[in-house]
Amino acid sequence: MNVLVINAGSSSLKFQLLDTKTRAIFAKGNCERIGLADGIFGYKVGDAGKVEEACDFPDHKAAIARVLKALDDHCDVAIDGIGHRIVQGGWYFKDSALVDDTVMDKIYEFAPLAPLHNYGEAAAIEYCREHYPDLPNVAVFDTSFHMTLPKVAYTYALPKDVCEKYRIRKYGAHGTSHRYEWMRAKEILGPKCRRLLSCHLGNGASLAAIMDGVCHDTTMGLTPLDGLMMGTRCGSIDPATVCYLQREGGYTYDEVDEMMNKKSGLLAVSGKTQDARDIRAGADKGDPDCLLAFDMYAYKAMQQAAAMIASMAGVDTITFTAGIGENDYSIRQAFCECFEWLGVRVDRERNRAAVGNGPQVISAEDSAVTVMVIPTDEEYMIALDVERLAK
Ligand code: ADP
Repeated sequence: MNVLVINAGSSSLKFQLLDTKTRAIFAKGNCERIGLADGIFGYKVGDAGKVEEACDFPDHKAAIARVLKALDDHCDVAIDGIGHRIVQGGWYFKDSALVDDTVMDKIYEFAPLAPLHNYGEAAAIEYCREHYPDLPNVAVFDTSFHMTLPKVAYTYALPKDVCEKYRIRKYGAHGTSHRYEWMRAKEILGPKCRRLLSCHLGNGASLAAIMDGVCHDTTMGLTPLDGLMMGTRCGSIDPATVCYLQREGGYTYDEVDEMMNKKSGLLAVSGKTQDARDIRAGADKGDPDCLLAFDMYAYKAMQQAAAMIASMAGVDTITFTAGIGENDYSIRQAFCECFEWLGVRVDRERNRAAVGNGPQVISAEDSAVTVMVIPTDEEYMIALDVERLAK
């Protein structure tokens, strides 16, 4: 099946047209700087070279319209279905869903929990429904994989009426990526993979505790700000910090929100950049702020991983994925060495060699836990959902 996958972020919209059978990618591209000046549209169709053009996108509708026009004009592959990544599906969506009017209403209903994402994503679906009225659209939620969390894991210790009124609970994110990690680990390792700790370490980062394919806990919370320290997000901190900054520092709600989402994490601690490659270069030269940024990143990941492992009463498999997880062997090494008490043994050579070359086992033969690098493929996972639900 030829599936067009749309991944609309807060200020970007990525697409990929792929074949679920062969995994061949016919076309892919990205609209950058939606809602900002100096937008860029970059795309590649088949063997033709990459095209990049200046293109202002006042909103997500303009971006999806440009993508569909490029496909109509330059790509002769027939599209059979469209998959849309949706950040927030609330408690309602426990699986991906074939889009109809009720599904659209629900996406809008939960939009206040992810206002920078759901509205743009919904606009993209609506445009696709109008433009290709005969094609099925499937909504794939970052949150649905986490709807299996037990109540004890997803409930916040806040007044019940407040939680109910404002729908406050742990929703998690990166569910499509964690689901892919489970699928591939299981395909590769078979029955010995029962309790999986999935580590998605990119600019955004989260962990998931997955037992027999069912998610038991995850590090992101009501929003993707919670959990691990990330590129520009602070992750878990004392929540009173927010009140303290507003009361004593005179910060507004928007300023605190921007600080914690866009000015914190690796960027804040290194004092230079959010890019792990540059921080690695700084750390290698002995820059103390870069060294601290990495040490904190690994320490917090280790601590929260221990919590995930405890929720499964053990672990058989650990997978690493996303930009840092797939490429930074030092972070993987540091992380795994923290779990030697659990019998985790990494093979240094395997670990160093596992950079950008497909799924790899990096644990040593005598390791009690199998450790792998499995490059994530959220687009493929979304396309598989379209195939499953559109049929
Ligand atoms: P997201 O999709 O959340 O924006 P990615 O999964 O693309 O993020 O990960 C981005 C992060 O991965 C950045 O911090 C980047 O520096 C890091 N990264 C990418 N390539 C490498 C590499 N070769 N070595 C170390 N870090 C890398």
